Amino acid sequence: MRLNNQVALITGSARGIGREIAEAFAQEGALVIISDVNAESSAKTAQEFVQKGYKADSFPCNVTKSAEVEDLINKILDKYKSIDIVVNNAGITKDNLLIRMSEEDWDAVITVNLKGVFNVTKTAIRSMMKARKGKIINIASIIGVIGNAGQANYSASKAGIIGFTKSIAKEFASRGITSNAVAPGFIKTDMTDKLSEKASEEILKNVPLARMGTPRDVANACLFLASDMADYITGQVIIVDGGMAM
Ligand code: NAP
Repeated sequence: MRLNNQVALITGSARGIGREIAEAFAQEGALVIISDVNAESSAKTAQEFVQKGYKADSFPCNVTKSAEVEDLINKILDKYKSIDIVVNNAGITKDNLLIRMSEEDWDAVITVNLKGVFNVTKTAIRSMMKARKGKIINIASIIGVIGNAGQANYSASKAGIIGFTKSIAKEFASRGITSNAVAPGFIKTDMTDKLSEKASEEILKNVPLARMGTPRDVANACLFLASDMADYITGQVIIVDGGMAM
């Protein structure tokens, strides 16, 4: 059990990659906090986990609202006394070519994907500083590294996460806190199910491993970073993309 006695908060974890990260952590003994903007689906996922014999609880939170984030962190600390691992996973897309991209869609993506990471990290890191240990894992994207036509807002948010991750790594290394990012490529979830068959085929042509990634492929990288196997790794970006961005 690599994560025994660890309390792990995973944002956007009612479904998709976040849920899989939570399950991978729970299977390694962590107590996982399922936190999603949707209270009902957060509770449902946590309940399913408990039925499987995992340690899990749910505290819904919209990561864009700093007061909700403050409340979330306080509730976890009141009940479980520590937060050892934070995975900033909540994210959205609102794709369009720049010429057609509305200010609302720009703001929405930057606010959830980037400001959400700021809100959660800033609030959760206080208790990690006191404990002089902690692991922050931010879910970026390969699109934040290589860019993509039609995703200027998403790409900017994910590139921002990478810069944020490295800055936090430098700022908190002396407190025993590591900060790393995972940059997934083309992963099979509801987010990519929105793409047409033709668009998916085009993307797959550029994936040397010739398949879409699974949420577990991403969760495995997160599990490594969350475990003591990665104690000497900080400020890094692990790309999980089947070789797409070589
Ligand atoms: P997903 O299936 O759309 O799941 C995203 C989750 O985040 C949902 O549960 C959603 O809640 C939640 N969420 C959205 N806004 C939120 C907010 N303001 N506060 C809290 N939770 C919120 O997406 P996914 O594919 O699993 O993606 C997870 C992460 O991986 C994202 O950061 C994404 O950018 C990144 N990523 C995904 C891929 C891919 O190919 N799928 C590739 C690279 C990176 P609701 O259910 O209520 O909407």
